[in-house]
Amino acid sequence: MIQKPKGTYDVFDIQGKKIQYLEKLFACLMEKYNYEYMRTPLFESSELFHRGVGDSTDIVTKETYDFIDRGNRNMTLRPEGTAGIVRSFIENKMYGRASSPVKCWYTGPMYRYERPQSGRYREFYQMGVEVFGSPDPIMDAEIISIPVQFFRLLGLKGIKVHLNSLGDQESRKNYKKALLEYFEPHIETLCEDCKNRYQKNPLRILDCKIDKDKDVLRNAPKLKDYLNEESKKHYEAVKKYLEALQIPYIEDPNLVRGLDYYTHTVFEVEANVEGFGSQNVLCGGGRYDGLVETLGGPKTPGVGFALGMERLLTALEYEKIDIIKNQEIDIYVIPLEETIKPYALEITTSLRMNGFITDIDMMNRNIKSNFKQADRLQTKYVILIGSEETKTKTLTIKNNQTKQEYKIKEEQLIQFFDQNIEEDIHETI
Ligand code: ATP
Ligand code: MG
Repeated sequence: MIQKPKGTYDVFDIQGKKIQYLEKLFACLMEKYNYEYMRTPLFESSELFHRGVGDSTDIVTKETYDFIDRGNRNMTLRPEGTAGIVRSFIENKMYGRASSPVKCWYTGPMYRYERPQSGRYREFYQMGVEVFGSPDPIMDAEIISIPVQFFRLLGLKGIKVHLNSLGDQESRKNYKKALLEYFEPHIETLCEDCKNRYQKNPLRILDCKIDKDKDVLRNAPKLKDYLNEESKKHYEAVKKYLEALQIPYIEDPNLVRGLDYYTHTVFEVEANVEGFGSQNVLCGGGRYDGLVETLGGPKTPGVGFALGMERLLTALEYEKIDIIKNQEIDIYVIPLEETIKPYALEITTSLRMNGFITDIDMMNRNIKSNFKQADRLQTKYVILIGSEETKTKTLTIKNNQTKQEYKIKEEQLIQFFDQNIEEDIHETI
């Protein structure tokens, strides 16, 4: 039997409902924040990620799914969403809009050739946000507030925001110099990857999962001592805004994040859930004032984040938060004879078009097993339609919990259900 590729998973049953719920809730939240939806291709020229994500990141050096298409072009399945959005921002000249900043959100699958483990897949889904055009720290704070408010809406409690500033280009340059000097006598004690990082991007040594607890990393010079006045001012302002929004944060001087293009604010949101394990970072993001220019656009500040769907679902499960409170349907229609089926289907469709979750027997069940099916579907009401009902246009409705029966004229059917079925808030978000 052919099996799914390693590191992928299928969605069905309750999981499908959960995912749709999260996507709907996020879309709804983004509407309130006044962000526009964007969708870019799943594959792009490989060069986009080499330039946009960076040749010294694991994502590009070890994790991409690359292929050559039939026209001999080098293509890559997107490992993350930002590079594609920035490409689109430039290609569609969105920088020319008067209504700056351009604020957008996206959702979709990302591909990374990683070692699969809990919370780590080769095809995984992200929801993310990018904003272009505002250099103001209030923008950074709004971006951080989005995942936080989203998690709050979902009822997640153990949420921690880790925060750092990488400063502007000048601060980073000075810091890089200090790091090179500091690590030089210790190179031999670092892991193989870090030896490489020392050459290409020493900042990323601080992000190393293997070396992170070594003294040599702990005692490394701290970025905050190298921030220039401008950068300090920006960072202080971000913190002030977070305080105004009552978003607690933990300053984490070693937080540098995997991607090369960040400037100023970087942050991660962690689920502090017992037993959740080490893949507990739900969301990461920050400011990337240099990226649009790097990819050939006009100098434009940018800031954004991306959130991992699978990890969010796991965190919700660990915290025993049941986002799908009920799976019941509103009405189950039972045609009692073959000849009744066209009329029964007509009634079913009309109920659906009036907003009721309605199902109809498709298996020619007898009446007894149809009532069993009604219970399995946890329907609120059953409609029985026989030849008598068809003639008189009066339907027999049964409340499936109380078993109370009603005779209702066809033209009063919608009104009856409008009065008796309360709209589920979960369906209205
Ligand atoms: P990590 O340090 O866990 O590898 P990352 O820094 O590579 O994360 P980002 O590129 O910032 O992650 O992606 C944002 C979010 O996407 C992460 O916080 C995480 O929730 C999720 N994510 C990243 N890689 C994977 C993966 N392979 N499988 C599932 N979710 C992932
Ligand atoms: Mg990673």
